[in-house]
Amino acid sequence: MKLTVIGCWGGYPKKNEASSGYLLEHDGFKLLIDCGSGVLSKMQNFVQPEQLDALVLSHYHPDHNADIGVLYHARLIQGFLGKKPPVLPIYGHNLDQAEFSKLTYKNVTTGVAYQLDQTLEVGPFRITFLRTVHPVPCFAMRIEVEGKVLVYTADTAYKEEFTDFSRNADVLLCECNFYGQQSGKGAGHMNSFDTGKLASLAEVKRLVLTHLPHYGDLNQLLEEAKQKYNGPIQLAHEGLTISL
Ligand SMILES: [Zn+2]
Repeated sequence: MKLTVIGCWGGYPKKNEASSGYLLEHDGFKLLIDCGSGVLSKMQNFVQPEQLDALVLSHYHPDHNADIGVLYHARLIQGFLGKKPPVLPIYGHNLDQAEFSKLTYKNVTTGVAYQLDQTLEVGPFRITFLRTVHPVPCFAMRIEVEGKVLVYTADTAYKEEFTDFSRNADVLLCECNFYGQQSGKGAGHMNSFDTGKLASLAEVKRLVLTHLPHYGDLNQLLEEAKQKYNGPIQLAHEGLTISL
């Protein structure tokens, strides 16, 4: 599978960039993971809105779902222009019915609830979920295809269960919204030391830090995570692609 980072900023998009959005491709299937503010615009550098085959949302915070409304418009308008795309499945949790109900729009998209105890099959991808520690219900994803594994933490404070959930992943796409001297616990986020500790305990092959803060020297995040984890590590950025 191929991962392309569309946006990597926590909370809101940096100028001319996007908040959370990740494109996963395998065998021609195009799966978008999260669709935060700025994603619809930046996504068009890599894939057109009408080309998406499915969308999975980790939770209903605007830096992860703000652009679903304009995604509906894009597919609706492309339909008017004669390129009517199929109804897009949008997978989300149904612990917030008001938000879940917004995933279904005319004949453009259909909301589909995923469940904690069930493996979700989306095109070639097999996805399992872990409830995270966050102010609203949020789910991390372990995404597998042909023996390769990508784990996306979504938004979360550190949680021990992440070790087994992330075990031996080829890529751990890990949120890192705080520097080492800060505690992310109250806000439901990890700091750089948490990310390194998790990557090390889970023995992942590669660590990518994302959901980045808007202040400070981001290289400090890498240096701090490296104090806990010996493997390859890097910061996410728009256009970063990883084949696994
Ligand atoms: Zn959030």
